Amino acid sequence: MITRFAPSPTGPLHLGHAYSAMLAHDMAMAQNGTFLLRIEDIDQARARPKWEAQIYHDLHWLGLKWPEPVMRQSTQMGRYRAVLQQLWHDGQLYACSCTRADIAAATSAPQEGGRVVGPDGLIYPGTCRDRPRGGPQPPTDAALRLDIASLQHSSDTAPGLAFAETGAGPNNETGAIRFTLADLASTAGDIVLARRDMGTSYHLSVVLDDAAQDVTHVVRGRDLFDATRIHVMLQRLLGLPSPIYHHHRLIRDDTEKRLAKRDDARALSKYRAEGATPDDIRRMVGL
Ligand code: GLU
Repeated sequence: MITRFAPSPTGPLHLGHAYSAMLAHDMAMAQNGTFLLRIEDIDQARARPKWEAQIYHDLHWLGLKWPEPVMRQSTQMGRYRAVLQQLWHDGQLYACSCTRADIAAATSAPQEGGRVVGPDGLIYPGTCRDRPRGGPQPPTDAALRLDIASLQHSSDTAPGLAFAETGAGPNNETGAIRFTLADLASTAGDIVLARRDMGTSYHLSVVLDDAAQDVTHVVRGRDLFDATRIHVMLQRLLGLPSPIYHHHRLIRDDTEKRLAKRDDARALSKYRAEGATPDDIRRMVGL
């Protein structure tokens, strides 16, 4: 079994991160497996070396161990680009220059049938879908969207998709989770695989790296359950195996708000400074 914890170094780790990391670690250790740490720092506008250093410090303090060297996504851009180039060459991507405001304006038009919000925000109304596609190099001055409708017509992506869930989604979905490309087209739409400012996206990078690191069990918060359908579709499209998914409960504070990274008062380092021990943290998150 290979599990991983994949934080973004954009703020301090809090109790929710500690729970996720310890659970992934404990699950791997119980099976004599491997626990990996991966730094998801593709958002270079928000990632900070100080937060990355604090991640190592906090996780070591909790008693977690992982093999070195740690994969940092910012060093993997060549791999992401190669996949984007292939998809672009195959005509499965199109360039999109719409701003959030453009998308909001287009989806608020009454003839569009109302707004649908998916795991990536508003479902893209397809404004740029007819722009010219293909050619050797994808443009870098626009976002690249995946044409989900074109996949529905291609033979290598069968319409029926599924993954195994050993935890639970927000509506207690568990076991074999089945869905179709048509479901994905209506609930997520033409997702962005490369943001203009990043050259990749969370969905593309997470899928490529889980496969590159042979991750067998993805352990993460329930808030990412809906994104999993996107990940499984990408795995099928790219010929990659799907790991088993284990979505866990979210750790909430007294007011039932999900802990947010900006909520520094709840940072793990604050508890440590106040004298809490790693065992106290385990008890606090119910491990
Ligand atoms: N990097 C993501 C985050 O910090 C987690 C990705 C994942 O576990 O799939 O929210």
